[in-house]
Amino acid sequence: MSPARSSETRIGSPGTLEVRDLVAGYGQIEALHGVSLHVEGGEAVALVGANGAGKTTLLSAIAGLVPARRGAILLDGQDITRWPTERRVRHGVALVPEGRRVFAGLTVEENLMLGAYARRGRDVASRKTQVLDLFPKLAARRRQHAGTLSGGEQQMLAIGRALMGAPRVLLLDEPSLGLAPLAVAEVVAALAKLVERGVTILLVEQNAHAAFEVAKRGYLLDRGEVAVAGTTEELADDPKVQAAYLGGVG
Ligand code: ATP
Repeated sequence: MSPARSSETRIGSPGTLEVRDLVAGYGQIEALHGVSLHVEGGEAVALVGANGAGKTTLLSAIAGLVPARRGAILLDGQDITRWPTERRVRHGVALVPEGRRVFAGLTVEENLMLGAYARRGRDVASRKTQVLDLFPKLAARRRQHAGTLSGGEQQMLAIGRALMGAPRVLLLDEPSLGLAPLAVAEVVAALAKLVERGVTILLVEQNAHAAFEVAKRGYLLDRGEVAVAGTTEELADDPKVQAAYLGGVG
């Protein structure tokens, strides 16, 4: 943690994540062939790659939704590879899935409270205040049904709901997907605020430009393997990254 971040501005206690030689898949299909990466405490890391590269599978495996066939997943140095999803959630692994999935018929506030269920009442009121401070648009609409929000606001609500669980590691699957450019900019700004507050983030994006605005370091996943690792400047200049966004690497 940088000295500039006081305990008042932090929104959780950041954890570290390490993935070692992970193999995972579905039935006969092996989608990840031995992926290794790490995210330091308070760091935002981008994971980019073409359609079908295995990005969602990797997040699902970290969250415990897809089993690891080989390799290891470590949270703060502790091996969580065989833990059920619910135990991972309680220990601070939070996944914001693709497509937002907020509860349209519930209010903004009710959606946020759903994210706090694993906290068993601990600091829930103060966390809600922190989350609403972070996202003033949500604060202004706290009693509105989530279904009436714009796409960008719904994405912020999905992120805010994950923050209610005091995550040690926040996994974000394509938060910019399907959003208009202005909404993408809003989501990028919201994620930048989380980085300032010291949240540990692994950010999956098709939109590499958006991801590189948030993260300082990243990985290119290609057909289930890490093809390039480096700073986001290095990634942006890499021909394999450029090719991935023009219809596949190699
Ligand atoms: P996208 O950006 O399109 O979501 P991705 O990089 O997230 O792509 P994954 O969704 O992880 O990629 O897919 C990796 C591989 O696993 C692909 O070959 C895909 O077809 C396959 N796959 C993904 N989900 C399933 C599933 N539920 N059952 C079978 N195969 C799957």
